[in-house]
Amino acid sequence: MTTTTAAVDRARLARIREREEERFAADRPRSRELSQEARRSLLGGVPMNWMTKWPGGFPPFIAEAHGARLRDVDGNEYVDLCYGDTGAMAGHSPPGSIPQIADQAANGITFMLPTENAIWVGEEMERRFGLPLWQFTLTATDANRFALRLARMITGRPKVLVFNACYHGSVDEALVTLDGERVAPRRGNIGPAIAPAETTKVVEWNDLEALERALAAEDVAAVLAEPALTNIGIVLPDPGYHDALRELTRRTGTLLIIDETHTICAGPGGYTAAHGLEPDLLTIGKTIGSGVPAAAYGLSEEVAARVEAGVSVEDSDVSGVGGTLAGNALSIAAIRATLENVLTAEAFERMITLGERLTAGVEAVIERHDLPWHVTRLGCRAEYLFGAERARNGGQAAKAGDFELDQLIHLYMLNRGVLLTPFHNMALISPANDEADVDRHTEVLESAVAELLDAGAGD
Ligand code: PMP
Repeated sequence: MTTTTAAVDRARLARIREREEERFAADRPRSRELSQEARRSLLGGVPMNWMTKWPGGFPPFIAEAHGARLRDVDGNEYVDLCYGDTGAMAGHSPPGSIPQIADQAANGITFMLPTENAIWVGEEMERRFGLPLWQFTLTATDANRFALRLARMITGRPKVLVFNACYHGSVDEALVTLDGERVAPRRGNIGPAIAPAETTKVVEWNDLEALERALAAEDVAAVLAEPALTNIGIVLPDPGYHDALRELTRRTGTLLIIDETHTICAGPGGYTAAHGLEPDLLTIGKTIGSGVPAAAYGLSEEVAARVEAGVSVEDSDVSGVGGTLAGNALSIAAIRATLENVLTAEAFERMITLGERLTAGVEAVIERHDLPWHVTRLGCRAEYLFGAERARNGGQAAKAGDFELDQLIHLYMLNRGVLLTPFHNMALISPANDEADVDRHTEVLESAVAELLDAGAGD
C-alpha cells in the first residue's frame, strides 16, 4: 500500500512538531503545573495510563465540558470530536439526560436490587437491537468478557475467534495479533496470563476462506466481531460478508457475538439494526449512559435458555460473570435517560448528516493536495488513514498507520481548539455538534496539511 512517507518530509514534520509543542506548553501553564504535581501521586502523572498518549508532553487538565465543548484549566476551549473515545458520544452532560441521572444519584445509587427503569431499558434495547434478553455491566470490556464466558459454557468449546487488529477492550482473549500465520500477543499486551494462541484463533477481516478453515474444526465457541472494524481506522465489510459470516457460524455451531460499542454510530440500533444482522449475542458500552459507566449484553432466546440451564443460583455470585456494581440503579437510570432523550433516532439523523459533511471536508483536503490518504465514514464517525487504497482488513489498515503523523495532527488540532482521539484519526459527532464545528476541523486539517507539504503557511 502507498504510505505518506513519500509525501511528508520527516525533518519538516519534526520542526513543526517542535514549534507546536512550544505553543502547546505556552498556552497551558496551569495544566503543566498540575501535571507536575500529579506525578507525585499518580503513576505517569495521570489517573489512567492511556492518558499519557496525548501529544504535547502533558495532557490538558479539563475544568468543565458541556455539549460539544471542553474548557481546560487555562481557559482554552476545544470543539470535541473525540468524546472520550465514544464514552461521551451523547455530548457532555447532556441537558436531555442529566436531570434523570441527578435524580437517581440523589435517591440511591447501588442496591444489588433492580429498579423499574431496568424493564424500560431491557425493552428499549430489544426494540433497538432485536435481541430479547439483556444483562448489564459497567464496561464494554466486561460485556465482552462475560459474553465469551457464556459462549464457552454453553457450547463446551474452548476457543474464540477474533479478527486481526481488532480491539474489544482489555479482554485477554482478544489482545492478539496475526504474525504471518501465527497467533501472537498483541504489541503492548501487558503480562498475558497464558499465550493467547491457546485461547484464540485470528483471521483477517473480509477473508472468508480463512474464516471457513478456522471454524471447520468446530472448536470455536464464538466469533467476536465489530460489524465493521473501528479501532484501526474504519474497515467496512465487503458486500455479502455478513451473510457469509452468519451462515458459516451457524453451519459450524459457532455463536456470533457482535460488539456494537463503537458502531452504534451507524444509527440508533447500531450497525446490527441498520443492516439486519442476527447475532446470538450483542455487546455495547461506552456511550449508552451519557458517560456514566454502563454497558450491556443481549442474548437471543436460544442462548438465554442455554445459559439459564447452565448457571445455578447458588453459584451465581462467583461464576466469573457479574460484578458488584453492575446493573446499579444509577447506570440503569443513565441508560434510560440517554436512550429516551438524547441518542434518539432524530438525533442520529442530524449526527449522520454532520458526519457526511466532515467526511466531504476531509476528502476535499485529500484531493486538493493529491494526498495518498483516504477517509472512511460509518454513520457519525469518520476516520482518515494514511494509505491511498481503502484497507480491506486489519493488517492492511495497520500498515497505513503513521504514529508520528497522527500525533502531529492531533497536536496541531489541540492547539487550534479541536480535539481528536489520541489513538487514531477518529472524528465523532454528538447531538451537540453543529456545522461550524465540523468546518473548523476541515479548516485546521487543511492548514496542517498545507504546512506539512509546504504548500502555503498555516495559521
Ligand atoms: N469494544 C470496542 C469495539 C471498543 O472499541 C472498546 C474500547 N475502545 C471496548 C469494547 C472496550 O470498552 P471499555 O474500555 O469501555 O471497556
